[in-house]
Formats: sequence, C-alpha cells, structure tokens
Amino acid sequence: MGRYDAPGHGVVDWKAAHREALAVLQSYLRIDTSNPPGQEAPAARYLGALLEAEGIETRYFETAPGREIVYARIPGDGSKGAFMLANHTDVVPVEAAYWTVPAFDGQEVGGRIYGRGAVDMKGVAVMQLMALLLARRLGLRLKRDLVFCAVPDEEALGRYGMGWLCEHHPELLDEVEFEMNEGGSGTSEFQGTDRPVFFVATSEKQVCWLRLTAVGVPGHGSIPHPLEHNSAVRLARAIQRLAEWERPVTFTPATEAWVDQLAQVGLMPPRTHRAEIEAMIAESAPLRAMFSNTLNVTMLASGIKANVIPAESTAVVDCRLLPGQSREGWRQQVIARLDDPTVQVSFHEQIDEVDPVSAPWDTELYRVIEAVVTEAVEGAVVAPSMTIGGTDNRFLRARGIPAYGFAPCILSLEERSGFHGNDEFLTVDNLNMGCELTFEIVRRLCL
Ligand SMILES: [Zn+2]
Repeated sequence: MGRYDAPGHGVVDWKAAHREALAVLQSYLRIDTSNPPGQEAPAARYLGALLEAEGIETRYFETAPGREIVYARIPGDGSKGAFMLANHTDVVPVEAAYWTVPAFDGQEVGGRIYGRGAVDMKGVAVMQLMALLLARRLGLRLKRDLVFCAVPDEEALGRYGMGWLCEHHPELLDEVEFEMNEGGSGTSEFQGTDRPVFFVATSEKQVCWLRLTAVGVPGHGSIPHPLEHNSAVRLARAIQRLAEWERPVTFTPATEAWVDQLAQVGLMPPRTHRAEIEAMIAESAPLRAMFSNTLNVTMLASGIKANVIPAESTAVVDCRLLPGQSREGWRQQVIARLDDPTVQVSFHEQIDEVDPVSAPWDTELYRVIEAVVTEAVEGAVVAPSMTIGGTDNRFLRARGIPAYGFAPCILSLEERSGFHGNDEFLTVDNLNMGCELTFEIVRRLCL
C-alpha cells in the first residue's frame, strides 16, 4: 500500500465515507450473483435503492427474467459530455470447498473484506457509487452528467448486460464522452520493483474460440487401421502442432506506449533494446499474453465406443487475439499452421462481436487520472496498458468512446489472485483509497 493524499480532504468527511463504503460493500457481497445462473436483479435494486435514497434519478432495465441493469444519472449543466462509471453486478461461481471463509458473507477479517466479487468487481462498484453519493451530497455543480451504470452478465460475454444496453438503448451511450470500468489498477509488485505502477487499460484482447474437427474413416477397433484414417490421431497431431507453435512478439500502439512509459522510469529497457525486451517477455506469462496471440486447448471430444475407430474428433481452442487482429485472419493463420485439410477449423461459438478496438490515451480523462494518481501516491508511475482478459469496455470502445479499465487502488499479487480464484478479498485500505481517488477523478473531470 503506497502513501496517498487525495485533495478531497477537508471537503468530504472521509472517515464517515470509509465506514459507509465498507458497510455497503459487505451487504453487496452478501447478494449471490453467481453467473451462471446470473440472477442479478436484486444487486441492481440494492445499488439503485442507495442512489434513489439521495434523490438521484435511477432507471432499471430488465434484460432477461431476473436480470436487470441499473442506470443512474446526476445531471450536469450540459457544457461537456457525460462521464460514465460502469461496473458489472455478476460474479463467477465459487468452488466453496476451496474457500477458507464463506464466499457470500461479506466478512471483514484483519483489514480484508472477503467475498466473491470483492475485487471483480463489487469493490470497484462501491468506489464508483460512493463518488455519486458524495457528489450529490456536496451539491457539486457538474459540467458533465455523471452516470453510474451496473450491468449483469459481464462474465458470460455481456449479451444480457452491456451488449444489451448498446443494442436497446444506444441513446444512453451516445452522450457519453468518457467511461471508466474494470481492466487496470495499481500494483506495487511490478517486475520486482516496489515503486507503485498504475495501469490504465485502453485496449484489451479479444476472445476467439476455435473448434477443430478431424474427420476420419470409422472401423472396427480390432483391426490395424491406417493412422490417417483415425480422427483421434489426426486431431492429436493438430493439437501438437498448435502447442509447439512459436508466435512472434507483436507490439500494438498501446503496448509500445506502455514500454516507453516504463522505460522512462527505468522499469523496462527502451524499445530499441528489442532483444532484452523479448527475453523479459519470454520469461513472463502475463507479458507473453500482452505481446502475442495466445491459445490453449480447453476441450476434447472423441469416440462413441471402446471398439469403434472414431469417425470424428473435436477440440476447442481458447484463443485471445491482440487488438488490431481479425478473428477470420487468425482462423486462416491456424489453418495454415495445421496444414492438414482433414482438420476443419471453425468458430466454436458464433460470438456477435466486432474486432478489438483500442481507445486513445491522449485524452482529458487520461490526464486527469495521471494527475490525481501521481499527486496522491508518492513515486507513482502511470502507463496506458492492455487488459489480457475481456471486459465490457470493448462494447464502448467499438462505439468510439474512450473507455478505460481503471480502479484507482494498489492491488497486491495476493489480491489479484482473487480474480476468479478462491478466498477473493479487497483490503479496507484499497477500498478507502479507491473511494477517495475515484471521487477526485470525478471532481476534476466534471467540475
Ligand atoms: Zn470483472
């Protein structure tokens, strides 16, 4: 935890605000919004009731039975475009047997708030919610509308969440000039340095699930069979070829800026030292994910009976593509790599998505974030970056909105392991810091 000193002090009673944020988060964590099945409406109503209690205009949209979006707005004077703070209400399911604390109890133990969603991303939602409550109570005269939007279904591609909102209420997004959501944060353990580094995600990788289908000639399991007739053997060869495929390090505009920013403060070699950078990337799985398309075989299916040579065998490959690459282009690369016409390569699930788009970082919001963080946290470094997983930001970036993944707190490696892991927690210190800095970002951007 770095020292920080947000300038909102003196205006806000932060002690009271911290107590309130903790109580709100604990209650929020007690609402089980595991997706599947994703019955998030009670979460939307819980957050909405807190906003309504302050007289903030709040709307609910049902996207499917039991699933709702809550959308609240504090109007500004209209001289600037809206600022949207967005988050998701759903969480991934838990394997309760592997948790040492209850996952839906909101317990605070030793300065840690435990529960599924503490970091991903109910804790961030509370930081955002508190910014609206405080802005309202202080009667801030905003130049921009300040919007709070909590959506379901982020963990399952967002069809009933942000994707739904874009499709059914595009007018609510047309007036948004900037958005902040999940995807980046501060870290105190970057590449062995204890200097706090804050990553503002301006782009992300794109999910591309491929299905390999090998077709062979069926036959009796008792008779020697030409290897190329056995679909399982063909599929195994194909998988092996993919697993051994070395893909080049690829820079995107966001990762170039990331390296440049870190090089300036000595945390990365300069970009001209390509070999050194490539050596660092080779040693780190998260860096490899940032600098190349990745693939992992995740599902296999073959065979109907112990004594029948399978006519068809299939595998699913979870691929994640860098921004700027197309899904079809990648499918063609995989086909070329396999070089085997008996193995078909198709999209596993028809995901109705655009190719990934990067948001610019030369913006007023980015400069505000940079100023707030570097003034509040001693020695802080701020750099644009890329999220290696998927977030709802992709929907907004595709609409041309600078949508940033950023939670203004300093997550430890242990806290990060809570993303989809066991014993997920957020420290009280991080919740407090996140509330103060989110409010300060809002104050500076909207006043
Ligand atoms: Zn999330």
